[in-house]
Amino acid sequence: MEYGDKELIHKHFRMGRGKYRLISIWSAPSKSVLEANPLGYNKMMAERPKCCNMVCDHCGTGIMHHFILEDEDKERFSVGSSCIEKLGQYDLVTAAQKMEKERQRKLRHERAEKKRAEQHAKYEAEIEEQRKKNGGLTDREVLLEERNQRELDNKKKYSELSAPIVALLEKASGNFCDSMADNLRKGSMPSGGAKRIVIEVMTKQYTGARKNSKAYNAALPEMEALFESVESEFKIIRESHFTYLNKSFGWH
Ligand SMILES: [Zn+2]
Repeated sequence: MEYGDKELIHKHFRMGRGKYRLISIWSAPSKSVLEANPLGYNKMMAERPKCCNMVCDHCGTGIMHHFILEDEDKERFSVGSSCIEKLGQYDLVTAAQKMEKERQRKLRHERAEKKRAEQHAKYEAEIEEQRKKNGGLTDREVLLEERNQRELDNKKKYSELSAPIVALLEKASGNFCDSMADNLRKGSMPSGGAKRIVIEVMTKQYTGARKNSKAYNAALPEMEALFESVESEFKIIRESHFTYLNKSFGWH
């Protein structure tokens, strides 16, 4: 081969004539492909470009990544990346670097895709396993079911515990009492001013007497005690539910 006035002597192989043009890169399938999929490996090897023979046409070293070059006679050769530089053609080096960068980018993309697909398959398998174990439900669905059941149970407890207060409020009737009764059945205790008024209503309804009458004042501590015992029972239920949610769902 002529390169300017200087003749390039190739160590092992003929490299054609004149200026080279970079065509493409062909990468041989790896050993892991051979081990995992021998048929696929053989197919890839059989379909390789004719000029790719696992050795660099410039130095004879074994190569995996073949930079395919075409000479002025349209004959093709393949060389390793380090021998591209030895051909003394600067534009070839730039083109090869660009092509190699693109190859690496594609490779990264393929690896990322493969990883995503594997993770997805793993997730699907886990879900399938859970459904088998839980009679058709995922672990998450079992948890939600349990939470739902607990909340229904709590609602029932709230309703039972608040029944004596609710009965007195319903006896009094009116918007305020109805709304307080509603809240109580759902587990919400009135507080502050509303608490004071509810106890007042309870005592009036319980005694049938006016506020500050003898009967009223006698029954007041009992009504306060009733209210506060329901209040503390509600608190226990609520706190135990929060503990459960925190443990099972990581709620804070
Ligand atoms: Zn070489």
